Amino acid sequence: MKTCTQKAKLSTNKTLINAGKHMEIGAPEQKGGRVVLPGERLGVIEEFIPDSGTYVKDGVIYSQLVGRALVDALNKRVLVYPLAEHIRVPRVGSIVIGEVGNAQSDNVLVRIFQVGREKLSGTFSGILHISDVQDRYVSSMNDVCKTGDILRAKVISQKNHIYHLSTVDKNLGVVYAFCSRCAALLEPKRHEMHCPKCGHVEKRKIAIDYGREPL
Ligand SMILES: [Zn+2]
Repeated sequence: MKTCTQKAKLSTNKTLINAGKHMEIGAPEQKGGRVVLPGERLGVIEEFIPDSGTYVKDGVIYSQLVGRALVDALNKRVLVYPLAEHIRVPRVGSIVIGEVGNAQSDNVLVRIFQVGREKLSGTFSGILHISDVQDRYVSSMNDVCKTGDILRAKVISQKNHIYHLSTVDKNLGVVYAFCSRCAALLEPKRHEMHCPKCGHVEKRKIAIDYGREPL
């Protein structure tokens, strides 16, 4: 039972040091401990002795790799052992599907929930910057996507544990867009998006197969 308490304690400790990365993996009873990412906080040195697969910075223990965090309650050790390759995480070159979150004028956050064809059990945060939207000049992210849209993008870098996304290719971009007035699914017409319900006209950077991504 002691192990469980330790594990529970560990999983409440989910404050991540990297703002661009966010993942919640359920099933805490999963054999072998919860899945952690590089840079994910595991605890503090007052609680645990850092063991293999971890590193310490300013008294905080972080995971060095994608793996499962194990707490050895008896010896007060925390370690991460590498995960078999079957657990999907986005990598540079991955095609991902995500929901547009917080939108700024020159970038948007994307909650990645699918890598390739595989749904994730948690989400990763990605960022799409206005310069990576398309080859042509884009004046505002408002013409690209809006909060709540579903987007297909490619991971172009993983700098500082943040997934930087691109929608430059024609198969990339918004796959489902919703009317900002009435939330109905928008329909592409010529170079604009039309709301069949309220008639509102908006702009998006859509993927060539808009509306056909199975979710
Ligand atoms: Zn509408």
